[in-house]
Amino acid sequence: MATLLEGPPLATRIRVEVAEEVRELGGLGLVTLQVGEDPASTIYLRRKHEAAQGAGIQSEDRKLPSEISEDELLGVVAELNSDEAVDGILIQLPLPPHLDEARAIRAINPLKDVDGLHPFNAGLLYLGRPTLVPATPLGIMALLAEHRIPVEGADAVVIGRSDIVGKPIAHLLLQANATVTICHSRTVDLERRTLEADVLVVAVGSPEFVTADMVKQGSVVVDVGINRTEHGVVGDVASEAADVAAFMTPVPGGVGPMTIAMVLRNTVKAARYRRGLLAFPKG
Ligand code: NAD
Repeated sequence: MATLLEGPPLATRIRVEVAEEVRELGGLGLVTLQVGEDPASTIYLRRKHEAAQGAGIQSEDRKLPSEISEDELLGVVAELNSDEAVDGILIQLPLPPHLDEARAIRAINPLKDVDGLHPFNAGLLYLGRPTLVPATPLGIMALLAEHRIPVEGADAVVIGRSDIVGKPIAHLLLQANATVTICHSRTVDLERRTLEADVLVVAVGSPEFVTADMVKQGSVVVDVGINRTEHGVVGDVASEAADVAAFMTPVPGGVGPMTIAMVLRNTVKAARYRRGLLAFPKG
């Protein structure tokens, strides 16, 4: 039976550390922008704000009407960029179809981009000089490090190629000297790849997408999926995979709490960059 890589103990420790750093910095500000009322987004945001406030961060959950125009949204972002009290800006995705997500993200000051999605930050990650990196991949790497799971030299397989999870975790694993394969919806013979994986990261968004027979004996399985079903929240990996893997993240209680902790850590990092306490790579 796999050892479970539980998120809450480490996430709680990080949140306590963040609270200490926030005190040292004399306060921090985080603003999230939500356009419209997607119920799942509302839950994620509420958790982020509760955690932020628990760590002493002034956080504002700004709700914008679903019919907001692109110019109005860009105007809000510009206002937050120039607000000295705001250290971090997070635009909750997806945006309604009439808004250009890439343009909205590009409008954020890269120094306040706590989701790490701005092309400048994504480019630095690609170059191996990470700055603000998406929170979920950071949380995964922290969990692996906490459990002293060796990544160097491992065959790592990532299923999913989103900008927020799949691509950045592949880059972080590469930086940690894993041999990385990225699989996606057009991958042929997925099982052949997953059965080779010493570290398997699954970020698909499909309940129990990875079954036990796709998992290598003694491997490490990181289940990023959050799927709301009639049986409650389930991951992308069937629970029987724990009979095959040596380590596995539970859902809920694995990667999710780590994501929230890392958003807070990113907010501290953003504040340090902007206040000149940490050097921001120039590219
Ligand atoms: P996404 O929809 O942007 O990406 C899904 C990826 O899965 C795509 O890149 C696609 O190529 C791949 N995929 C789809 N069908 C496939 C198939 N048949 N075979 C192989 N690959 C396939 O999703 P995302 O934003 O990366 O999120 C993925 C999941 O992780 C979702 O369940 C989301 O809710 C969850 N999530 C959890 C956290 C957390 O903190 N735990 C954070 C972000 C996302």
